[in-house]
Amino acid sequence: MAVQTVASTSNPAVDLGPAAALSCRECGHRVPLGPVFACEECFGPLEIAYDFSAYDSEELRRRIEAGPANIWRYAPLLPVPSDVAGKPNLNPGWTELVKADNLARELGVTGGLYVKDDSGNPTHSFKDRVVAQALEAARAFGFTTLSCSSTGNLAGAVGAAAARAGFRSCVFIPHDLEQGKVVMAAVYGGELVGIEGNYDDVNRFCSELIGDPAGEGWGFVNVNLRPYYAEGSKTLAYEICEQLGWRLPDQIVVPIASGSQLTKIDKGLQELIGLGLVEDRPYKIFGAQAAGCSPVSTAYKAGHDVVRPQKPDTIAKSLAIGNPADGPYVLDIARRTGGAVEDVTDEEVVDAIKLLARTEGIFAETAGGVTVGVTRKLLKEGVLDPAKTTVVLNTGDGLKTLDAVAGTGLTATIRPNLDSFREAGLA
Ligand SMILES: *Cc1c(COP(=O)(O)O)cnc(C)c1O
Ligand SMILES: [Zn+2]
Repeated sequence: MAVQTVASTSNPAVDLGPAAALSCRECGHRVPLGPVFACEECFGPLEIAYDFSAYDSEELRRRIEAGPANIWRYAPLLPVPSDVAGKPNLNPGWTELVKADNLARELGVTGGLYVKDDSGNPTHSFKDRVVAQALEAARAFGFTTLSCSSTGNLAGAVGAAAARAGFRSCVFIPHDLEQGKVVMAAVYGGELVGIEGNYDDVNRFCSELIGDPAGEGWGFVNVNLRPYYAEGSKTLAYEICEQLGWRLPDQIVVPIASGSQLTKIDKGLQELIGLGLVEDRPYKIFGAQAAGCSPVSTAYKAGHDVVRPQKPDTIAKSLAIGNPADGPYVLDIARRTGGAVEDVTDEEVVDAIKLLARTEGIFAETAGGVTVGVTRKLLKEGVLDPAKTTVVLNTGDGLKTLDAVAGTGLTATIRPNLDSFREAGLA
């Protein structure tokens, strides 16, 4: 069965809409909704189980279409209270699905190529979607401080969401992030702490803090609120299908950091099928990594089920998670759907950023360079079918990673007269 349901809400104290319980992804053990993330039986990750049994698909489709032009149009499918749209929130989502005909021509795609451009979110990355869910969970559980471990984009999304909602924020990042990301996280006025180490060190530190009295009352969006946070990525799947006219894409290329986004896009597509909102036909999910941090694509290519951690070294810092929590699930999904996981070098990432900008007027951050670069590579290898409808995610804004294209600049410098203009060969 595609859509997981349980009988009724086991914790009437919290109103999180259709969310009914937390369920272990490994053993299926269920616990009431709460700020917990690991199974007490097997330490497996918990995820949200819903009760969608009351929905009629035609009615649900009409309700969604009549909803606001942001993620809350899908509130009936998310772990949020029914009055969420009235609360102070950044209201991300409903970003443009760009029909990328120029890029398609360049890459030889004939079946329709689309870029889901999530740089259009309030803090210019897809992270606003996931933080919006975590914020509602934090409210429901009575937290007043919002926190996270971040590779950069999440820090800004948490800082901004906390500012809007009147929460305190204190977020943790590796000390050596891109300046653009540091400024974009700090400007919202919350506390921003650099940790001497990489993302995996930051994450380990946050797990320690949660178990300590110093972290009491803190909602870590990607740790103790992770089950709620993760559901935000489903809205990407919902939007893509709705924007295609309630149709599944044939192929979708998704970046991998922890792998959460990719697994929840699959969950979102499965839910739409289960709810009868799209026709049940096959789709393929492809994962994209940077070669300098490619634990999942390395495991995929080796035919392994386990993901061996790596020490990241890549310009795609937003994807630089060397020990991705959802890695094994990503491998399952790529294999089950007939997709693949591939990686590209930093040089290919930069080329792809420029290709997307030149063909479609979209300036992507390095993560977008990774997905476009992997798309190009998989087309060349004959793994992606050019005759199929293909959606490529751009999850962040190029203004955050200007260093990646630092060599780009003036075509010419001339004196302010026509002779000089002609001499430069620009006429
Ligand atoms: C966080 C992030 C992702 C995906 O992260 P997951 O941990 O795999 O869910 C993708 N792109 C950008 C720009 C991000 O910041
Ligand atoms: Zn379990």
